[in-house]
Amino acid sequence: MASELFRRRARTWSLLGIACVTVALALPATRSMAADCPGNPGALGTSRTLVVDPREHPRIGTMQYAETLPLQDHEVVLTFDDGPLPRHSNAVLDILAKECVKATFFVVGRMAKAYPDGVRRMHDAGHSIGTHSHNHPLSFHRMTVEQAKQEVDEGIDAVATALGDRAAVAPFFRIPGLLRAEAVEGYLGSQGIQTWSADFPADDWRHISPAAVYGLAMSRLQAKGRGVLLLHDIQPRTVAALPQILHELKARGFRIVHVVPATPDRPKTPTEPSQWRLRPITEQVAISRWPKVPSFSFANAEMLPGPAVSDLGLNAGHMTESVGGPRHLARGQTPLPKRAPWPRQTPMAASANLIAFPIPAGVLFSIPEKSQPAIRAMIPVASHHATAGAGLGATKLDEAAPATAAGAPVRQISGSAAIAPAALQRGPIGLTARPRPLNH
Ligand SMILES: [Zn+2]
Repeated sequence: MASELFRRRARTWSLLGIACVTVALALPATRSMAADCPGNPGALGTSRTLVVDPREHPRIGTMQYAETLPLQDHEVVLTFDDGPLPRHSNAVLDILAKECVKATFFVVGRMAKAYPDGVRRMHDAGHSIGTHSHNHPLSFHRMTVEQAKQEVDEGIDAVATALGDRAAVAPFFRIPGLLRAEAVEGYLGSQGIQTWSADFPADDWRHISPAAVYGLAMSRLQAKGRGVLLLHDIQPRTVAALPQILHELKARGFRIVHVVPATPDRPKTPTEPSQWRLRPITEQVAISRWPKVPSFSFANAEMLPGPAVSDLGLNAGHMTESVGGPRHLARGQTPLPKRAPWPRQTPMAASANLIAFPIPAGVLFSIPEKSQPAIRAMIPVASHHATAGAGLGATKLDEAAPATAAGAPVRQISGSAAIAPAALQRGPIGLTARPRPLNH
């Protein structure tokens, strides 16, 4: 007993020790954020840096894959695609810099070639630079591997050239339009490149207002509680919505995580496999298995005209027994009948000449052919029901099924286990009779 207590205590202490070490490791990163943001003590900041090994988790983002980044509750990763387009991308960089937020940019090769300064600015600000193909074709899902390989490689080359350092390009790739294909992901994986989908977009490529982008970003984030947010740094509506998104993230207690790839001198952040799945199911988390009704926003709230009675091809006179011709109803008014249009109940005179019909024989309801023995083989029951005659049902069935006479061969249903004929009795299942276990 005492030794058991000691063991438990020892285990508790060792767990506490692990917890303390974890807290000690986590604290400096947590403290570094807002306080270190020059000129903005109330900045959102970057709460921690997550170092990932792309080879261990080659595909992430629950929009398309089973795994996503191992984020804790209320942790968010910001991602921006399609840049650089200096006019808007630089505005995004300014907004992020003001809040000391680090993000991941998925740069298009052709854009990097056109605006190498734009990519360098992103990199110099400390953001992660992933790639997003060379020409941003929306056909990755139907490309040959060769074509995809060329798009991927050319994009990486262009960004590496702009940065003047291949190692500065993170092995992170987002497929344009998220038009995934197994073969493309396979190629990326073989190159040690992580395919990034996302956990939620904010639809900022659609023709919606900045307020709508903000609303979608926050509502989807709130619904999942954590995750990778997909944005576009080339969209003016994103530039307009971003300050409010960051402000609200801070207000709602969300924390920004910066993701970087593991290198020989920068080991991956230790994680458990379960952390890579969004919303691990634990006893503490109540889960709802009901499908959610999507919330549609209707652009047009006009009412459509309801159908008039005349549209139904009915004579109004049949619906309402009106006096003096059909009554015209105003639109929206329901035509209520004064009297029900269906026939009145009329008393039926009982006929004095009742004809007797023959009662159908039980054989008419039996299952024909030789399937009876097989079906009976599936219903083993206690023998006394059969021998004592368990009522009308048994009698009828017996009459109707001469094929089940004792000694008739029991046909085995294909795929079922063989049943020893001796274990079988005939007859219906009684209330007290329990099916015998099949002998397999
Ligand atoms: Zn894109």
